[in-house]
Amino acid sequence: MLRSILLAASAAVALNAAASAQDAGPLTVIHAGHLIAVPGEDVLTEHSILIRDGRIEAVEAGYVTPEGAEIIDLSDDWVMPGFIDSHVHLRGELNPNRILETVTLSDADVAYDAARNARTTLMSGFTTVQDVGGNLEVLTALRDAIRDGDTVGPRMRVSGPAVTPTGGHGDMNGYREDIMDLMGSRYACNGPDDCRRAVRELVRGGADVIKITATGGVLSNTAAGVEQQFFDDELESIVEAARMMGRRVTAHAHGVSGINSFLEAGGSSIEHGTYLDDQSIRLLRRHDAYLVPTILAGVTVGEIAENSDWMPAPIREKSLQVGPQMLDMARRAHEGDVMIAFGTDSGVSRHGQNAREFQLLVEAGLTPMEAIETATVNASAHLEMDDQIGTIEAGKFADIIAVDTDPLADISVLMDIDFVMQNGVVHKD
Ligand SMILES: [Zn+2]
Repeated sequence: MLRSILLAASAAVALNAAASAQDAGPLTVIHAGHLIAVPGEDVLTEHSILIRDGRIEAVEAGYVTPEGAEIIDLSDDWVMPGFIDSHVHLRGELNPNRILETVTLSDADVAYDAARNARTTLMSGFTTVQDVGGNLEVLTALRDAIRDGDTVGPRMRVSGPAVTPTGGHGDMNGYREDIMDLMGSRYACNGPDDCRRAVRELVRGGADVIKITATGGVLSNTAAGVEQQFFDDELESIVEAARMMGRRVTAHAHGVSGINSFLEAGGSSIEHGTYLDDQSIRLLRRHDAYLVPTILAGVTVGEIAENSDWMPAPIREKSLQVGPQMLDMARRAHEGDVMIAFGTDSGVSRHGQNAREFQLLVEAGLTPMEAIETATVNASAHLEMDDQIGTIEAGKFADIIAVDTDPLADISVLMDIDFVMQNGVVHKD
């Protein structure tokens, strides 16, 4: 009896195997002249990447040409895993009308803008992004539409609006009081209980990660500084509520009081980190927390404050104060052996210019390979997706990009990506 059950079971397994072999899609093979399969390890030459059903099936030495396979010839190129930007805002771009747009653009307008920005981002070689601030409904819908193949863009993780204290960086600031009453963020919270509510509502709405504003911010129209804005018991309640629902918390933080109190409370990562000190570096290392330096955002707001006159006074003042600090901050963090994940805050800078951050990371003292690691292996771990993306290895998504010049000799060539494949689909060639 047992034997016949086992026989029937193994027959069923064999049938399933036959069926799945039949269902398997066509094979695509990339011939990669120079292959950075695992950033941080040696560059391989003349390798083949076998791709089926959106996944990498194998990586083999030499140029193989299996019968019936479609061959993509990148034998003159440098081939890498698709880049990951851990900090973007696809909803729009910083511009002189921004303050008005908050009360003129509908969610539908924002959705179309976000879809366009997503496409632009993908075409610049970023096959995955984490959007950390923007309308939750719009961005989760975009995330899901991209996942389902209904629109083109990077695979997305979404936080939705930041959890913020009332009047904090993530709240509505600088408008008439009745407008702020009407449009203030529902994720503004006061006291541990209320902050738990905010976290839980975000999880209910589909947030993959919780973003908070642990300090004031440069681009909020209020003179409330850039130091700690949540009380310690609020920080602890946020981290704990998120953890209980399987979410990590990342914090926007400039001032050192906000950086260190958030890390003490168990936070997973720091966005910006402008004024981090030696204690911050120790805390980041002790908690295996990532720093997402967003140097490009600092450079961009500094440039705008210097060269144009449309910023309201509180924003202009903070831009001139914070912007120029960020390159030095990244240098100190790197020298302190902090784990860095690539992030640009695109939306402050123009979408599609994300790769400018690589040049700034190299200016801050990273080698070109280390800079590439931040946007691949490091960012994939930071986003809890290192079993899916971040390297070109069997089993991972076929998110693959290429340039025609050696990026390790000149990192600026990453501004001009020649080939983009995501999920095994070629979007740019
Ligand atoms: Zn941001």
